[in-house]
Order: sequence, then structure tokens, then C-alpha cells
Amino acid sequence: MFDLVVKNVHVVRPNKSEVEVSDIGITDGRFAAIGVNLDDSGARVIDGTGLHAFPGVVDAHMHFGIYHPLSEDIVTESRTAATGGVTSGISYMRTGKYYLNKGGPYADFMPEVLATSEGNSFIDYGYHLAPMTKEHITEIPELIERFGVPSYKIFMFYGSHGLHGRSDDQNAFLMTPPDERYDYAHFEFIMRGARAAMDRFPEAADYISVSLHCETAEIMRAYTRIVEEEGELSGLAAYNAARPPHSEGLAIAVASYLAHETNFPNINLLHLSSEKAIESARLMAETFPHVNFRREVTISHLMTDYNHANGLYGKVNPPLRPRSDVEALWSAVADGTIDWVISDHACCSDEFKIDPGDRDNVWLAKSGFGGTEFILPGMVSEAQKRDIPFHRVAELVSWNAAQRYGLRSKGTIEVGYDADLALIDTQETWTVRAEDSESAQGYSPLEGHELTGKVKHVVLRGSQIVVGGSVVGEPLGRYLKRPTG
Ligand SMILES: [Zn+2]
Repeated sequence: MFDLVVKNVHVVRPNKSEVEVSDIGITDGRFAAIGVNLDDSGARVIDGTGLHAFPGVVDAHMHFGIYHPLSEDIVTESRTAATGGVTSGISYMRTGKYYLNKGGPYADFMPEVLATSEGNSFIDYGYHLAPMTKEHITEIPELIERFGVPSYKIFMFYGSHGLHGRSDDQNAFLMTPPDERYDYAHFEFIMRGARAAMDRFPEAADYISVSLHCETAEIMRAYTRIVEEEGELSGLAAYNAARPPHSEGLAIAVASYLAHETNFPNINLLHLSSEKAIESARLMAETFPHVNFRREVTISHLMTDYNHANGLYGKVNPPLRPRSDVEALWSAVADGTIDWVISDHACCSDEFKIDPGDRDNVWLAKSGFGGTEFILPGMVSEAQKRDIPFHRVAELVSWNAAQRYGLRSKGTIEVGYDADLALIDTQETWTVRAEDSESAQGYSPLEGHELTGKVKHVVLRGSQIVVGGSVVGEPLGRYLKRPTG
């Protein structure tokens, strides 16, 4: 009757506080029944005794191919994701330096991205795109209809501050036409373009959204100079001071007012890192109640602070913060201000990340690192310490982002949904060691951290892709043309 039955497992579902021991029956890649004593004759069986079944994690913020060739990066990093119970990843992609290292219209760029990804991912995958030019904004209807990409990113500080903390020639970095500016006006016109698409595609309107990396170039440039001239701080503490939290708060206010001005409601505030960012996001939600905000935080900003991030390996934008900000983020998770937790996974190996001639120089180090495999173990570990119920974890790591981004077949354990599962032992304690990871990165900012919660088995659309913690088989991931299902 079923292809696969998971027996005797604690079933964790979003928006459902009871966690009951049950069987899960799967047929044709979808959940077919959830109940006790399901008939497993003729089916493959996974014994879930003592384990918790979470819906497969939706890592809605990844960066496949940013620092390594996409064709290789998507293989190793999707494998890494699978070991942590991630079954769907949505990766940010843009023209310009890094990624495919080219400009031009997405009509030419996306087919290359999709062809390079095809058959190489161990998890289902989608893409968010960043409209970098005026031409890209005119392509929004095609991005929706042809490529199934209804979510767009804005990097608020790129107009006059480089990715790694020093100014570059922006048109060269972004590979945009010399007579165009990547500035607030451009962001406004992205929102206007997305607004027009909502009216043109009413059936997809709920899933058309604009995501913003909220930091302010002018504040960061000034504070970077102050921190460098004073010379009192070094390492990640210096980087934190050079990109102060009010730079986030101000950018959030600007983004929110632009949403109001353009009558564009679906705004995602990405990777909030500080108490001031949370405060600003709350103020904007009160001020603009007609804007349908979502607020995101990364697993790294939740799991560690700048004093415990393995030296410069913890350099990221926005920076890791002091402990007081980490605790403010947890309060925002607990009270529902935060909608989802993602990784911002950007595999950046040592030889690329750290300047070989000046290994202690935080200003020369590159930004970003991986961490997709820690989303579920990290959240389960901390949830048990902080009395956050598991159904809330399932909302934060699967359901809420799936809903927002149009993954209508993902994010919960209910009949009819894609049979994506992460089976985790919530009692097993283990220590993060980069050498144990599938990632090509080779280090982790969380090195040495102890987590309680170990992913054992992972199922993607009814196929077991992780057995006893190890990836098995060929890459089965499919492209997620959104909205799905
Ligand atoms: Zn990112």
C-alpha cells in the first residue's frame, strides 16, 4: 500500500503543539497517511523509535556558487545541507563579480544557471534573483512566468560599499552599465516592478516578494575609517564596530518607507543581527501595518557571538555581534518577531577567505561562510535549553519560509505534501568539527561548539537521501519552479 513507512516516530508539525508518536506512510513521493499501526507490508521501513520527525528543512537563504564554480559548489554544499536535514534550498543569484562572473540580462543568465545546476543537487533547489540593472526590472514578468522566480533581492549597501568592507569601483563590481546607479531610486523601481507583477499575475501575487540586506553604506564607510584610525579593536570586534547596528536600523527604516511609497506589501528583512535591527523592524511594522513584513535571522547569528567564532573565519555581513545582541535575537525568536531561520550558506574556503600575506587582517578577509547543516541541530539544541516548543522550530525552519516563497508542496508533514523528512535524535550530543562536514569549506565558525540534536535519516520526496547521518545515492534534487504544486 505504501512505498515507505516511518514507524513509531515523534511527529513534529508546524502550528500543532501536540507531538504524538505515530507512523508516516509515503506513496509516490508524497505523504499518504499519518497514523498508528500503518500497514507496512511490501513497503521499505525506517524505524523511527526514539527519533523526532521534522518536516524537511527549507533553507531559504543560501549562496550556491558564490566563491566556487556553481557546478562544483552545488554538489558539495547541497550534500552538506542534506546531512543537516535540509531538503529544499533557495539560493541567491545575481549578475556581476562572483557567481558566474558576468553581466547581461537574466534571459541569458538564468538558462546557464539552471543547466549548470541540473542533476547536481542532493536537495530540491530554487533561486532568488537580484535585479541589478534597469533591464533586469523589465524582466520581472519573464522571471516569474518562464523561470518561476517570484522573489527578488536588494543589497542596500552595494551602491557605495564593497562586499568585503572596502569600496570598489561599483560599476565594475556589479557589472552594470556606466550610466546606471545601484541606489535608493533603483530599489524603489524594483519595488514598483514587483508591484506591477502582483497586478499582472494575481494567482502568484502572494509569493511575489522583495528581500533586503539592510545595512547603510554611508554609516559603515565612516565607522570603518574611525575604527581603523583608532586602531584599538581588532578582528571580529573591529568588524562589528565598523558596521554598527544603527546602520541596520536606518536601512530597515528606508526599506520600509520605500515599500509604503510604492504600495508594495511583501517585504522580507533578511538576517537581522542586532537588538537595534529588531527594534527598527518592530517600529516599522507598527508604522506601516499595511506592509506584510517577514523577518529573518541566520543560525550563525543565533549560535555564536564575535568572541566565539573561530577567529576571522566568523567574518560575515552583517557582522557577528556581542552576546547581548545574540540574546536579543533569541527573545525575538521566542516572541514571534522572527519568522524564519536560515543559513546564508556561502562556502568560502580558507585560501580564498583569509589574505595569505596578512592572515590576521580582518579588513582583507572575505565575508561569508557556510552553516546550512547546523540549522536544525542548532535550533533543536537551543530550543531545549530555552523552552521553545518543537512545533515552533518547525515553523521557523520549514513552514514559514515555504509559505512566503511559494513552496506550496513543502514545509509540513500532512497528507498530500511532498514527503520531505528530517529524523533527528534530540538527545544525542556532539561537537562541531569541520573535518566531519561534507562541505568543501574546511573550517567552521562554530568549531568546537557542542550541540544536542543529531540528524540521522533524511527523506526527499519519499527517497531516503541520508542514512545514519551519511548521504547515500545520486543527487535527486529537482528545480523548484515557484509557486510549486
Ligand atoms: Zn546572503
